[in-house]
Amino acid sequence: MTAVTGLRCIRCGRVFPFDSAAYLCPACGEGNAHGDAGILDVEYDYDRARDALAAGRDRAAGVFGFLPLLPVGALPNLLPAGETPLVRVPRLARRLGLAELYLKDETRNPTRCLKDRSTSVGVAMALERGARAVYCASAGNAAISLAGYAAHAGLECHVFVPNRVSEVRLDWLRRFGASVHVSGGNYDQAFAESETLGRAAGWYSRNCAYNPFLVEGKKTVALEIGVQLDGDVPDVVVAPVGDGCTLAAIGKGFRELREVGRTSRLPALFGVQAEGVQPLVRRFRNEPDDPGGETRAASISVRRPRNARRLLRELDAAGGELLAVPDEETEAAQRALAEEAGVVAELTSATTFAALLRRAGELRGRRVVLVITGGRADA
Ligand SMILES: *Cc1c(COP(=O)(O)O)cnc(C)c1O
Ligand SMILES: [Zn+2]
Repeated sequence: MTAVTGLRCIRCGRVFPFDSAAYLCPACGEGNAHGDAGILDVEYDYDRARDALAAGRDRAAGVFGFLPLLPVGALPNLLPAGETPLVRVPRLARRLGLAELYLKDETRNPTRCLKDRSTSVGVAMALERGARAVYCASAGNAAISLAGYAAHAGLECHVFVPNRVSEVRLDWLRRFGASVHVSGGNYDQAFAESETLGRAAGWYSRNCAYNPFLVEGKKTVALEIGVQLDGDVPDVVVAPVGDGCTLAAIGKGFRELREVGRTSRLPALFGVQAEGVQPLVRRFRNEPDDPGGETRAASISVRRPRNARRLLRELDAAGGELLAVPDEETEAAQRALAEEAGVVAELTSATTFAALLRRAGELRGRRVVLVITGGRADA
């Protein structure tokens, strides 16, 4: 049973009663032109959540094993996400001088991506509300994930993708039977198109940083790492950063592990962007953005990140930093992960290993987890 208590706007701080139909804060709405919207954060009664988790009343595997810390009313019947392995890579750890190196292998999710965690919660909410159609904008992974879950649940699915989406990703979308709207522009444009059309049609939105419940699914990757390490959380967790939802969710997950008494410390959060598209790194360093570059790491090619405020808040709470790596280093890191760890990561996810190779000197003796967010190696 859920221990949810309400929804707090991360922009104005107002708290609203829990409503499964909620999207943005009614007072702040879209916010200003920089995407600083009134995104809602789900709040819980952690004493109740701790008791419910300890009692193990909701016996489920994966994402819904953490039901008290999700906004979902009852266990849904969906493609099972989560319960992914934490792969130990001792040879690489030794070479880099780390105490321990783990890959949280999210490529083992049903559609090969961490996005299946957030889709699970989004589709559970859509079903609770009686929605018949769902939609999202995506560089590919969120769309494929939604299309797969919609296929399994019998929902109509509309996805909005950038004009440069790969043929491999379009093929996955077609196989799941989604209606695909290819935008005339980039991801940011596809996002705007999806919200205009989706809202007008009354479909259920799976856009993260708009729908407040998706981050709750993403945070389960951190809850799982905590359980897999028996509460002994790592020193550093490294994840790629596009809109900022994934790393912000990881930060929330570890804070909640502390709230429910499963750990006493928080890992530092390292977020990685591509050198060509690094608006959040620039914002973190108080530098002006340079909107001119490109990256082949499609899943983090986001020029107008929508969850900046939330991510920066989590970085304040946990400590850590945002850094950028050039595509050439990420390509080498992707090859090395396959050849030396036996894990095929998509280019976006290999940014984590590229960042680690840059910073290994400072991390000697530490326990590091790289979140391998996706495995569709079409880039
Ligand atoms: C979406 C995605 C990310 C980035 O997540 P954000 O929430 O946009 O920061 C990272 N890796 C993969 C594989 C993704 O699909
Ligand atoms: Zn608000």
